Amino acid sequence: MCALRLILSLMVLAALLCMAGPVAASPETTERAKKFIAEHEDKVRPLDIAAGIAWWNANISGKDEDFKKKEVAQNKIDEALSNREKFAELKKLKEAKDRGDIDDKITARCVDVLYLMYLEKQVDPALLKKITALANAVEQKFNVYRAKFDGQEMTDSEVRKVLKNSIDSERRRNVWEASKGVGAVVAGELKELVKLRNEMAKQLGFKNYHALQLHLNEQNGDDLLKLFDDLDQLTRDPFAAAKADIDQRLARNYSIKVADLMPWHYHDPFFQESPAVYQANLDAPFAKADIVQLCRDFYASIGLPIDDVIARSDLFERPGKSPHAFCTDIDRAGDVRVLANIVPNEYWMGTMLHELGHSVYSSKNIPMSLPYVVRFEAHILTTEGVAMQFERFSKSRAWLDKMGVKIDDPRAFDEAAAKVQRNQLLIFSRWCQVMLRFEKSMYEDPDQDLNKLWWDLVEKYQLVKRPPHRNAPDYASKIHIVSAPVYYHNYMMGQLFASQVHHTIAKEVYNGADPSMVIYVGDKRVGDFMKKKVFEPGRTLDWQGLTKHATGEALSPKSFAADFKGK
Ligand SMILES: [Zn+2]
Repeated sequence: MCALRLILSLMVLAALLCMAGPVAASPETTERAKKFIAEHEDKVRPLDIAAGIAWWNANISGKDEDFKKKEVAQNKIDEALSNREKFAELKKLKEAKDRGDIDDKITARCVDVLYLMYLEKQVDPALLKKITALANAVEQKFNVYRAKFDGQEMTDSEVRKVLKNSIDSERRRNVWEASKGVGAVVAGELKELVKLRNEMAKQLGFKNYHALQLHLNEQNGDDLLKLFDDLDQLTRDPFAAAKADIDQRLARNYSIKVADLMPWHYHDPFFQESPAVYQANLDAPFAKADIVQLCRDFYASIGLPIDDVIARSDLFERPGKSPHAFCTDIDRAGDVRVLANIVPNEYWMGTMLHELGHSVYSSKNIPMSLPYVVRFEAHILTTEGVAMQFERFSKSRAWLDKMGVKIDDPRAFDEAAAKVQRNQLLIFSRWCQVMLRFEKSMYEDPDQDLNKLWWDLVEKYQLVKRPPHRNAPDYASKIHIVSAPVYYHNYMMGQLFASQVHHTIAKEVYNGADPSMVIYVGDKRVGDFMKKKVFEPGRTLDWQGLTKHATGEALSPKSFAADFKGK
């Protein structure tokens, strides 16, 4: 970017404005802000790129030296953002911006975005070190912990296997309880970590770490609870009905009464996923499908081609490679890549639609004319939302039909897929209620009876019974509470965003068509809509502004809930 020319033209502009007489905004301040933004970009962009490439290489190779390079690059970024003098200057700019002194909207927005990035790093380095060390120690304990049962150690996937397949209630109970044992191992240190994180938040002027994290992500606790209360209302009955059906099937499988179902009777340790109780083979249509070609054809057909992304991506299993999937925008200038491990089944069809959904919502379609600082997605929840909006098509018979994927028994696929989709979303939404409310309350008062708080919430929102007389720190067996704090709610809000944008497309592009019939294939108007309404603003809008811009309304659970009606 040509910062010098920008600054020169601004100086001319500033001079002109001075001659024109007094204005509310100060051209000098705007100029100072632009200079700060340009300097930030010059310094941090190469570090971002280095970190992005190191991260990519590390995940492909699995080599320690690549992970080390990533860490070095990340430390340099942190060092740049923790610079005290820079932050002091930025703080002045932010105050000036809040007074209305910066007349250029995008520059003002850049100041807000940068302020939050730097604020996060203005912590006493000794305290930060203590927090990182403690979090690492707890994570380490998670990694080495093995559930012990019958004198044998079990890996995480062995535990899951028992929970998925065993019909012996006693065995299930023992394995479930053993898997929760890690909670007791880490609970003490977790509490210490929570208190240190709260101390860090207080240093920055926030009442606790939860409030700080939300603030850094342009969210606040009261608004969030209101949104989740609305979501609770709209999902409570459909969830109860879906769960009643699941419970009946589970009880039958274990030859017990529904009333005797306990937490260990669900198929994963937290009942965050839908138990496999429906005889549905969603994988069959994909056994012979070319998943990459389907994605290429689909995205090209809606005017969002991804051939360049595919060419740079690493999509199939290899030794040493990360088993997961992700999409990364390396340079915010079009170098966008996907890492995946495709096998021909429904999971990977959905995952590829998801990751490539992230890839179209990137610097591929966010204009280069925007400053680097805001040339990326508005928020984690909006990019997850877009990815989920496309991911859902792997369970749509109409979509598969139109894409030319042959289904032997379309009616059976339709019924099963709709049910699985619906149950997954409902179950996940109730689980997110527990996570959000637990974390918020835990950071507000870490010394309360957390064991009780956890099970009160699980009973209320997931309708899962607390085992009689159980008094154990079961919340502490969820690693996300340690390693990805105050984050889960964004996935849920992403789902709401996905539904709301999809319903808007049905209304505006398809003239009010039934959203469940709208499948996008072959319609370039969809790509146009996504570009104009969702991608092109980048981070010049916050997530609320973008939701309004794209859908005309604030984010709400209305569309998400409507997706469950009549199915
Ligand atoms: Zn994602």
